[in-house]
Amino acid sequence: MSTSTNAERMEKIVSLCKRRGFIFQSSEIYGGLNGLWDYGSLGVELKRNLKNYWWRVIVHERDDVVGMDGAILTHPEVLKASGHVEGFSDPMVDCLLTGKRFRADQIEPQTGIIYRWADAIDDSFNHFLESEEFRKAIPGWAEAVSQIREPRFNTVLTDLVIKYLINSGDPVKRNLGKEFLQSERMQKSGGPFSVLLQAGKPPEAARKLAIQFYQKRGITHPKLIGETREKIENTRQFNPENGAQLTAPRAFNLMFETHIGPVDVPEFPSYDSEEGIDIDELKAWEQAYDQWQSDMIYLRPETAQSIFVQFKNILEVSRKKLPFGIAQIGKAFRNEINPRNFTFRSREFEQMELEYFCRPEQGMELLEYWKVERLKFYENIGISRASLHVRNVPDEERAFYSKGTYDIEYDFPFGQQELEGVAYRTDYDLSQHQKASGKSLEYFDEETKQRFIPHVVEPSAGVDRTVLALICEGYAEDQAPDEKGKMETRLVLRFHPRMAPIKCGIFPLLKNNERLVAKAKEVVDLLRPHMFVFYDESGAIGRRYRRQDEIGTPFCVTVDFETLGEKDEKLRDTVTLRERDSMKQERIAISDLLAALSVRIA
Ligand code: ATP
Repeated sequence: MSTSTNAERMEKIVSLCKRRGFIFQSSEIYGGLNGLWDYGSLGVELKRNLKNYWWRVIVHERDDVVGMDGAILTHPEVLKASGHVEGFSDPMVDCLLTGKRFRADQIEPQTGIIYRWADAIDDSFNHFLESEEFRKAIPGWAEAVSQIREPRFNTVLTDLVIKYLINSGDPVKRNLGKEFLQSERMQKSGGPFSVLLQAGKPPEAARKLAIQFYQKRGITHPKLIGETREKIENTRQFNPENGAQLTAPRAFNLMFETHIGPVDVPEFPSYDSEEGIDIDELKAWEQAYDQWQSDMIYLRPETAQSIFVQFKNILEVSRKKLPFGIAQIGKAFRNEINPRNFTFRSREFEQMELEYFCRPEQGMELLEYWKVERLKFYENIGISRASLHVRNVPDEERAFYSKGTYDIEYDFPFGQQELEGVAYRTDYDLSQHQKASGKSLEYFDEETKQRFIPHVVEPSAGVDRTVLALICEGYAEDQAPDEKGKMETRLVLRFHPRMAPIKCGIFPLLKNNERLVAKAKEVVDLLRPHMFVFYDESGAIGRRYRRQDEIGTPFCVTVDFETLGEKDEKLRDTVTLRERDSMKQERIAISDLLAALSVRIA
């Protein structure tokens, strides 16, 4: 599929999500908050179905995993020991022209010609040369110097003219010279700047950007100097959107901070201009400020750390033997530099993490075991194997303590991107927390009488990314007949019934027939305790089907006159069951409905 088609598809998905109440931008009526999303009434059902299924497969259907739910606000020592305070950062770069911020490692390598300028000087001098005042002050020179436009002579000329004016003995000329000398514009320098242009593009395009850059730096009439050019391949030093130079990368810590307890930011001591500042007050302020700083805590950037920190407690109460796991689903927060691609990269998101503890010799084998399990999981929620990819993370990208990591990636319309990371983290986390807390996190093996720190394999999946993958995977446009049998485009979300927000739509054929309505409500009462159903009596039946297709409801039941036994006594208490994808309809007894649907949505 072409790039534009993919972008178009993504746009349609985003718009459907809003229109049908899956996902809204957070605080939208106040202009929205970048990187934050709210799930609407259908989105929340989809999300819950996903989380419940993960919990069922990872915790309830296994003997070797237990769950937990840790606090979001996290003790700073936990995140110091885990390495997050020091090292949980992304390299950040800014566009020198627009100030737009990027994650350096996410910039695609570019090839083209670099135009570099040593500097730009203010060409106001030339404007000055052309001014009436200058012509009047030194009439003989005006014509001659105004011919010289070569920038490198500008500084020399400036000096000459200014010297001449100041030394002229004429008070008017002297003032003019002094004014010009002091003019701030003359002193400005923009420093070096460069632009990347694709080969074949006119250099003027680059110069235009450079002029804008120097103007932003306060040079009113920039004259570019020292232009050079050079061919370059695979550089990441330029803004991919406009070609302007980027700053050098700086590390930006992604953790959100907050303060615990009712502490105000200590107010800076008042300053009396006559008596100056009171040193004792200043010292007291400093102390209060340090205290305030030390009350700082973090919003967790991943759920994993609370699992490691509670490892010993959970081991003791669950009395599990290695290998065993601790699972958690919960919110995590990262102050992402560039939230983008809808919910894919958000600043607040949910994770589904499993820490699977084992003996050191089992680590590599379990890393492979979880690959099979996790791929099976995605297939069981309706993501086709063909859209999933396993990317082995190369040594240079992997955390230093990890002996093996792979990402499970999905073909989103905006590219192949990570859904889940699975890492063999060795004994790094538990060792770090044991060292920092001084509390033993060792495991005692009763058979071998050995004590050791368990190793861990971590499958860490994103709820929001998987929800987005489910929507992208399910989104389809096909052809279906309208009321009159004419083919029209049908928009459908082909969710796996297990994931679908609403499992069954229930319709009486006509809303003004009491007996049909009463029977349809009986069907609602029959199914409602077992699944989320939706009753709809408004509009033509075909329209009602379309509305359910668009939100991914896999089944619809229609109560008609046959159900009432009016046409054929044999069909009394049967309904039409319509399947979303094939649009096939079957006649089924109401008494068989619950069993038939239950197996399909399980
Ligand atoms: P990325 O490289 O995309 O930033 P990551 O490798 O830092 O992700 P992990 O720390 O391994 O991500 O987190 C595990 C999972 O949490 C990811 O696979 C993803 O599904 C989810 N996740 C991480 N960051 C975000 C985010 N900003 N928005 C939504 N989900 C996220």
